[in-house]
Amino acid sequence: MSDGVKPYQIERRGLMLVLSSPSGAGKSTISRAILESDADISMSVSVTTRPKRPGEVAGRDYHFVDKTEFDLMANRGELLEFAKVFDHYYGTPKGPVMEALSDGSDVMFDIDWQGTQQLAEEAEEDMVRIFILPPSTAELERRLHTRAQDPPDVVARRMDKAADEMSHYFEYDWVIVNYDIDTSVAQVRAILQSERLRRRRQVGLGEFVKGLRAGR
Ligand code: 5GP
Repeated sequence: MSDGVKPYQIERRGLMLVLSSPSGAGKSTISRAILESDADISMSVSVTTRPKRPGEVAGRDYHFVDKTEFDLMANRGELLEFAKVFDHYYGTPKGPVMEALSDGSDVMFDIDWQGTQQLAEEAEEDMVRIFILPPSTAELERRLHTRAQDPPDVVARRMDKAADEMSHYFEYDWVIVNYDIDTSVAQVRAILQSERLRRRRQVGLGEFVKGLRAGR
């Protein structure tokens, strides 16, 4: 490299990094930290029929749509996966994901276990599935209350749902217990770096090694 020879560029297939957890386990904080520090990964922005929460920005956190529009998108095959979570519908728009992956960029998904299963039916090879667990039930409840964006009855239902969601941890490739946010971010980063180096994701490795063996 130091003698002016241009290094051979190995291309990579983009991967799909799925983060799932019960709400309140710290997933959004972790995903934000990864996105801010890594230019090679972008977030898949879902469509949802749920109302916007204070502080959420349309187009950044979600595309907020009504049920008619959601059904239209689903019927036109514009969603990679979709599911009903709590009382609302959520889905992943296909176009931006396909575009990013074919450019060799990675895409992060904040979707539930139902969406993860649907994606895996089509694209398991390209997926890296991480499940984030809270350190305890009491801590999960505390985080849901301090988040204070949902009314108490919604928080109570989310606690019920959390047990359900957590029962799916074994369908994931990696499991992180979020004791401490900085440690969890570092762990997700380590997984991402390792998964990027998987042999099957590196296109043109054969040519590269052939060149090395030929002394180039
Ligand atoms: P929230 O309403 O708290 O933003 O999200 C509720 C749940 O819906 C979370 O578990 C989140 O991962 C999930 N979710 C968000 N977007 C999607 C999506 O596009 N597809 C699926 N299947 N789940 C989603």
